[in-house]
Amino acid sequence: MGRWGGRHAVVVGGSLAGMLAAHVLAGHADRVTVVERDRFPDGPRARPGVPQGRHPHVLLEGGQVAVESLLPGFLAELRAAGAPRVGMPSDLVLWQNGRWFRRLPATTHIYTGSRAQLEELVRRRVLANPVISVTEGTDVVGLLGDASRVRGVVLRDRSSDVRGEQQAVEADLVVDASGSGTKAPQWLTAIGAAVPHEETIDTGLAYASRVYRGRDGVLGGDTAGYYVYPSPDQVHAGGALPLEDGSHLVIVSGLRGDEPPTDDDEFVTYTKRLPHPLLHRWLDEAEPLTPAFGYRRTANVRRRYDLPGSCPAGFVATGDALCTFNPIYGQGMAVAAMSAVALRDALADPRRTPTTRRVQRAVLAASRQAWDISAGADRKMPGATGSAVAGGPADRVADWYLQRVQECAPGDPVVGRAFRSVLTLAAPVTALFAPPVARAVLFQPPGTTPAEPPATPEEPGA
Ligand SMILES: Cc1cc2nc3c(=O)[nH]c(=O)nc-3n(C[C@H](O)[C@H](O)[C@H](O)COP(=O)(O)OP(=O)(O)OC[C@H]3O[C@@H](n4cnc5c(N)ncnc54)[C@H](O)[C@@H]3O)c2cc1C
Repeated sequence: MGRWGGRHAVVVGGSLAGMLAAHVLAGHADRVTVVERDRFPDGPRARPGVPQGRHPHVLLEGGQVAVESLLPGFLAELRAAGAPRVGMPSDLVLWQNGRWFRRLPATTHIYTGSRAQLEELVRRRVLANPVISVTEGTDVVGLLGDASRVRGVVLRDRSSDVRGEQQAVEADLVVDASGSGTKAPQWLTAIGAAVPHEETIDTGLAYASRVYRGRDGVLGGDTAGYYVYPSPDQVHAGGALPLEDGSHLVIVSGLRGDEPPTDDDEFVTYTKRLPHPLLHRWLDEAEPLTPAFGYRRTANVRRRYDLPGSCPAGFVATGDALCTFNPIYGQGMAVAAMSAVALRDALADPRRTPTTRRVQRAVLAASRQAWDISAGADRKMPGATGSAVAGGPADRVADWYLQRVQECAPGDPVVGRAFRSVLTLAAPVTALFAPPVARAVLFQPPGTTPAEPPATPEEPGA
């Protein structure tokens, strides 16, 4: 890519990954154009191009750090807009692998407000930059260029009077941030370029989500939310997480062949599949505020544009268009932000010319930990399919250790802290092997955990 001041960058897709990439590119280009299929709503509302936006979207700590470093003051804006900041494990009732977590003092916080609000705040901040313009209501339908270099995009306006007309727009760099449904592999084929190898792991996981207002919280005043993680022995997940207006977004999920229903009564009945009647009892008394919405496209997919010969110059993929995760671990937005930080750092590195491949490798590296967590867990789920399902011998050793970590995390404060820091992408996986953690994992019993969902947080030092 070289140092390309004085040039034009096009970003395909104006959602989180696209907006944050545009923000970074604005520091290096004369003009950045974001092309977005939707017309943006004037306010925090769901839109068709982001159908997953009706489902819970937590912002993990790794993502908070990344967004804040890109858009200083963002977290204060998010809090001011009312997004709940929820302490883990203190504020939540959490269940995993047959154990309730002790509600020890929080070692991390997540934001659980609506996806639409978070995205709107990012969009507002990014589009305030005069270097960035946005072309709304327009599809990218192809690329310009050849096997060696991408030179722009082909656009099609979606408005009815000009529908079908195509326009070529030249660019020195095209960033694909068009999400998990990206058509970039087909666009690259059409200009004679190589198609990236795709790694996939699909458990057939399906979500259904619905907003409820309860009489008082989930379990009572001291509890912000409730969440059951799935495991190979208990494949259903579910919970209720607080939104900015005091309501809760309730989610249930199941695997292929037992997908959760979106019919009103059946949605409630489905929660009986969870390992405790807590959520089902609460729903019986709570008032539904929306219909239930379903979502089924949840496979882990990683496109290896970073491999030699896999990508022409002038083209970089980011966000879900590069790497999509099973959403149950809540990582995608965090990774979109961490990828933008990686893009920023790769473009600014004074020691290396930022070639397309170098930049793409840096962006992909930002998603590696999230991929290892999500793909590593899904590989073990019953019925998982895809090209990356089989792990190597190293995975089997790691699996044994991680199984022990999961057994210890609910009851042991030291292991629990390390586990959460890795799962929220705030610390590298090596945090799980730090001496105090390894000692507890290898040599101590897992620690006592509550027999029933704990209704209140533990006092510090308890
Ligand atoms: C059910 C579900 C729950 C999730 N929960 C969480 C969570 O709790 N926490 C979390 O961090 N992540 C979560 N995620 C992941 C998160 O939604 C994504 O990782 C995140 O939105 C990535 O953003 P993106 O910008 O890459 O893609 P998207 O947000 O999908 O945006 C893609 C954009 O590109 C536009 N577009 C597509 N094609 C074109 C085209 N040809 N031309 C122009 N524009 C186009 C679309 O309109 C859209 O605006 C969840 C995902 C799902 C499916």
